[in-house]
Amino acid sequence: MNYYSLNNPSTRVTFKEATIQGQAPDKGLYFPESIPTLPKQFFDNIGSMSREDIAYQVIRPFTGDTLPEAELRRIVAETINFDFPLVPVTANSWALELFHGPTLAFKDVGARFMSRCLGYFVRENNAAGGNHRPVTVLVATSGDTGGAVASGFYDVEGVNVVILYPSGKVSSVQELQLTTLGKNISALEVDGSFDDCQQMVKDAFMDPVLKNQLFLTSANSINVARWLPQQFYYFFAWQQWTALFPGAAAAPPIISVPSGNFGNICAGLMAYRAGLPVNHFIAACNANDTIPLFLATGQYRSKLARPTLSNAMDVGNPSNFVRILEIFGKELPELKQILTAYSISDEETVATIKDLNTNHHYLPDPHGAVGYLALEKYRTNHPDSKGIFLETAHPVKFYDTVEPVIGEKIPLPPSVAPLLNKQKHSKKIAAHYEELKDFLLSYR
Ligand SMILES: *Cc1c(COP(=O)(O)O)cnc(C)c1O
Repeated sequence: MNYYSLNNPSTRVTFKEATIQGQAPDKGLYFPESIPTLPKQFFDNIGSMSREDIAYQVIRPFTGDTLPEAELRRIVAETINFDFPLVPVTANSWALELFHGPTLAFKDVGARFMSRCLGYFVRENNAAGGNHRPVTVLVATSGDTGGAVASGFYDVEGVNVVILYPSGKVSSVQELQLTTLGKNISALEVDGSFDDCQQMVKDAFMDPVLKNQLFLTSANSINVARWLPQQFYYFFAWQQWTALFPGAAAAPPIISVPSGNFGNICAGLMAYRAGLPVNHFIAACNANDTIPLFLATGQYRSKLARPTLSNAMDVGNPSNFVRILEIFGKELPELKQILTAYSISDEETVATIKDLNTNHHYLPDPHGAVGYLALEKYRTNHPDSKGIFLETAHPVKFYDTVEPVIGEKIPLPPSVAPLLNKQKHSKKIAAHYEELKDFLLSYR
C-alpha cells in the first residue's frame, strides 16, 4: 500500500515514509491509494475474535510490507492494552468510552500506535547505517495532544519529544501529564497562547539551520500513523453491538463523533468504507461550525477558532476534512447520505451534562455531551433508531467545567491520583522563536 499527497496525486510514498515525514513536502496530507475492504468472514466471525486480532486485520493492509507481522502484532497489542467499553446511557443510546488509556483521552490510541511505528522505523534506519541522528518530535498542544504524545513516546529508543504548551492555559491534570515523565520527554512552558506555540513549531519546521542539524518531525493528527489506528474502536463497538443485539437482528447503529480537526470521524468513515455496518455518522461540533455550515450550504468558509467549553474541538479550519471529501470522491451528495453535522452551543453542552448526570446517572465530559446531544437531535427525526456517541475524554480532565455544573467533585481515577504527588519539570521560555531554536540546538 502506497500513499499519495492530496496536493499532488502523482507522489507515491510508503507507510514508513509517510509516518516519518508526517506531511508531504508539498504540504498535502497523505492518503492511501486504495481503501481496502474486509472480507465477509471477518464480520461473520467478529464475535469470537480477540481485539488484538481485529485491530491487526484492520491495519495490516495499510502498513503493507513496512512492518513484519510479529512487529505489527506487538505494536497493535501495546496500542490497545486498555478497555473500550460500550456503556448504556439511555434506552436508545450508548457511550463508547475511549478514555481508559493512560492519559484518559482517545488520542492515546493514535499516539501509542504512531510512537511505536516511528521508534521501529528509526531503529531500522540506524541499523542500516543511518547517521544516528535521533528523531526529535516537536509538538504544540492546547491540552490533550501533549499528554497522549508524551505518554506514547515515553522511553521510545531513538526518539526525543519536545512539547510546547501555553503557560497557565492547560488544566492541572493535563500539565502534570506533560511535565512529570522526564527521560526523552521535554516540556517547554511558553509565556503566550496556543497559537504562539503553534507558530513557533511551524517556524522550526521551516528553519534551514535546524533542518541541517536535527531530524525534526511532528506528531499531530494528520500523520497517517495517528489517523488510521483510530479505526480500531469503531470495530470494537460493532463487536459489542452484535453481542447486545445478536443474530441478523443487529441493525447498524448511528455513530456520533465529537469533532474538531475531523481525524477521528474520518477514521470512522474509512472503517465504513472497509465494510463496517453503520446506519449514519454524526459530526458533533461545538460553536465552531465550519463543517455544519458547509454541509448545509455547499460553501466552505474557514473561520478563526472560537473558544468553547469543549476546547479540544475549537478548530475553525479542520485539517482532515479534505480526506473525508477524498473518501467520497469529492461528491457532496454521496457524503451527505451518510454524514450529518450539528453545531452545539456551550449553553446546550452545560444543560446536557446536567441532564445526563441527573436523569441518566451518566457523567459525560463536555465533548461527549456535545456528541450525545447531536445524536439526540438526529434521532428526533429517526425515533426508531439506536445510536452510539463517542466519549472522547474522561470528565475529570475537564473538571473545571464539569464540577460547577453538577455541584460536586469528580472522583479521581486510579491512574491520575499518583500524578498529583509528582514534581512538574518544565522550562519556561518567552513566545519567541529564537528561544525555541536555542533550546533545540543545545539540549542534546
Ligand atoms: C482531539 C479531541 C477531539 C476532536 O477530535 P478530532 O479528531 O480532532 O476531530 C474531541 N474530543 C477530545 C476530548 C479531544 O481531545
